[in-house]
Amino acid sequence: MGVCLSISAQAYTIVIDAGHGGKDAGAIGRISQEKNINLSVAKELGRLIEQNMPGTKVIYTRKTDVFVELHERAQIANRAKADLFISIHTNSTAAGLKGTTTSGTETYTLGMHRAAENLEVAKRENTVITLESNFEQKYEGFDPKSSESYIIFELMHDQNMASSVNFAKEIQKQFRATAGRIDRGVHQAGLLVLARTSMPAVLVELGYINNAEEEKYLNTSAGVATLAKSIYNAFVAYKK
Ligand SMILES: [Zn+2]
Repeated sequence: MGVCLSISAQAYTIVIDAGHGGKDAGAIGRISQEKNINLSVAKELGRLIEQNMPGTKVIYTRKTDVFVELHERAQIANRAKADLFISIHTNSTAAGLKGTTTSGTETYTLGMHRAAENLEVAKRENTVITLESNFEQKYEGFDPKSSESYIIFELMHDQNMASSVNFAKEIQKQFRATAGRIDRGVHQAGLLVLARTSMPAVLVELGYINNAEEEKYLNTSAGVATLAKSIYNAFVAYKK
């Protein structure tokens, strides 16, 4: 008798998306590039889940320094019918290499920005599509730098919103409790990578690469391990 005992064996799938990669460095610091910090934390998070949660399948959108188009990152999760999507990024202010005293972590869910700073993060993270060929067609004329383009996000009603916000809140709680980082809260913004996923999805900003002190922390193995552990703890709490 063909009893389907295997259904629950790997019932849960999480997609871990290390932001940027390859020709897209992301934000630039004095001693590092965003894409490498994101990948280090993504891999450490995946390792923790694989090691401690055998019932959970981990899928990476990239495991090496390669360029992956934004719509493809979401498609990887959609094709796998993943249960949860987490995109990992590192922040920067408009001051760039002039430096900043701003520091701390933020977690985003899809929505309409209420504050100008959130729109700035969305613009910065969405602009990578301009490195893709035919991005005008692929994203139906979406112009990542034009504020008007973001009006569509006001009309989007995401049924995964409540779960996404719950996970985002757990992450910020753990960044505070486990890693002792400054908690800059949970925000909404029109992030294309989140808009194209069909499951609860969040985007994490680990800290500011153009804050000298924070950049140093983000480039230590202790910093990477602690931030990954924080997200891992949040995932365990969220999954319960
Ligand atoms: Zn980024």
